[in-house]
Amino acid sequence: MIEVKNVTKRFGEGEFALTALGDVSLSIPEGSFYTLLGPSGCGKTTLLRLIAGFELPTDGEILLDGENIGYLAPHKRPVNTVFQSYALFPHMSVERNVGFGLEMLKRPKAEIDNTIAEMLELVQLGEFAARRVDQLSGGQQQRVALARALAPRPKVLLLDEPLSALDLKLRKGMQSELKRLQHETGITFVFVTHDQGEALAMSDHIAIMSAGALRQVGTPEEIYTAPTSRFVADFIGDTNIVNAELLAFEGDKAKIRFNDGSPLLVNAADTTLNPGPVHLALRPETIRVVDEADDTALLKGEVIDSTYFGAGSQMLVRLDDGVEVHAQVVVPRPMGSRVGLECDTDMLHILED
Ligand code: ADP
Ligand code: MG
Repeated sequence: MIEVKNVTKRFGEGEFALTALGDVSLSIPEGSFYTLLGPSGCGKTTLLRLIAGFELPTDGEILLDGENIGYLAPHKRPVNTVFQSYALFPHMSVERNVGFGLEMLKRPKAEIDNTIAEMLELVQLGEFAARRVDQLSGGQQQRVALARALAPRPKVLLLDEPLSALDLKLRKGMQSELKRLQHETGITFVFVTHDQGEALAMSDHIAIMSAGALRQVGTPEEIYTAPTSRFVADFIGDTNIVNAELLAFEGDKAKIRFNDGSPLLVNAADTTLNPGPVHLALRPETIRVVDEADDTALLKGEVIDSTYFGAGSQMLVRLDDGVEVHAQVVVPRPMGSRVGLECDTDMLHILED
C-alpha cells in the first residue's frame, strides 16, 4: 500500500514559485488499479514523479508498506515507470530492451533469460524477441515498454498516460490488455490519464485532481453516480446541473426543495453547507419524463429540442428557472410541450461549487 501524506511540491522560488501539488493525501491499496485523473497541468505527472523518486517533496511523506520512501533514490524504490514516450532503445532487440533493467541489477544470466521469456509471453510478443524495436508498430513498442517495466517485478508500476500516443482502436485494445496485466501480475498500477472514459473503464479507484489538489476519490461508479463537486460532475461525462434550495440537514441527508415544490431528502457529501441556493447533479439517463401535473414531477419545463440517436432520443428541456436539462428517453415528447421530470432521489447529490 502507498500512502501519500500531506504532500506539497513547489517549483521555483519567490515570485516565480509555483505550487504543483498542495497538501495532497491519498492511500493506494496494494494490488489495485488506481487512476489519477484530471486536466492537463493539474499535477498528475508531478505526483507520479514524486512516487518514483525523480522529484523530492517540498513537504509531506510518501510511505510504501509503512516505510517512508519519500527521500530514497529512484533505483532504491520497488517502483518502476512506463513513460508516454516508451523510452526504448530503438536499435536494440526486443529481448535486450526487456532484459536491460535486469542486466543493470546484475542478475544471473539464466534468471534474466527466463524473465525475458516470461514477460514477452505476458505481453504476447514471444515471437518478436529477436526483432529490433524500431521495426515494431506503436502498439507493439508499448508492449515492450510494459514488459521491460514489469521485468524487475516492482511492487508498484507507474504509468504516465501510456496510451495517449496510440490511435483510438489500439487504445481500446490496450485498455483491456493493461487491466489483464494488472490482474495477472497482482502489481499495484498507478495509472495517469486525462481521459475520463479511460479512467471509468479501467480503474478500481479513481482520484480526481484539479489545480494541484485532490477533488474526489472513489470507485468509478461512486465518482460517476455521486460526484461531490461541480468540477467532478462536469469532468465525468455529460451531466445536468440544476438549482434547488437547501432547507436543512436531517442526519446525513439534506432537505431540499425545487422551486415551490414539496421538500425532499437527497444526499450531500458536506453537511456543513448553509441553507440557501445549491446546485445538484442530474445524469441525463436517470431522468424520467412524466406529465407536468404528475405528483412525481420534481422539475417542470418545456421541450425545446429532441435528437434521435437510434437507441433513444436526447431531449432538451428548458426548466421554468431557465436552466436547460438533457434527458435520455425512449419516446420523446413533442417540441413545445410542457413536461415534468422525475428521478430517484437517491440519484440526487448536492454539489460543492
Ligand atoms: P499534469 O501531468 O497533470 O499535466 P504536471 O504535473 O506535469 O501536470 O504539472 C503541474 C504543474 O507543475 C504545471 O503547472 C507545470 O507547468 C508545473 N511543473 C511541472 N514540472 C515542473 C518543473 N520541473 N519546473 C517547473 N514547473 C513544473
Ligand atoms: Mg502529465
